[in-house]
Amino acid sequence: MTYVIGEPCVDLKDRSCVEVCPVDCIHETERMLVVDPEECIDCGACEPECPVEAILTADAVPEEWQPFVRVNAAFAQGGVAAAEAALAAHLGGG
Ligand code: SF4
Ligand code: SF4
Repeated sequence: MTYVIGEPCVDLKDRSCVEVCPVDCIHETERMLVVDPEECIDCGACEPECPVEAILTADAVPEEWQPFVRVNAAFAQGGVAAAEAALAAHLGGG
């Protein structure tokens, strides 16, 4: 299990979560922030900090946010560019 940032973060990027992450695994991309699932230690510190409840555990992600699991995971594979491409694919292609 890991934590996932979902749709409410897109174009908001309030950044409250970044400051509390003890392992600095929340990364900024062009339109949203993402959690690197390979770095996240599942401490949960970020979840209550988000003013728009964008952060959930992966197993609590609702059906409509499943693409965001891939967007966050893409960061671990290919960094910022991969996460941005995954988000663009989701927003553009439904
Ligand atoms: S606190 Fe929420 S809206 Fe702000 S950057 Fe983090 S996930 Fe995005
Ligand atoms: S659960 Fe903890 S380690 Fe994972 S992103 Fe949130 S603050 Fe960082």
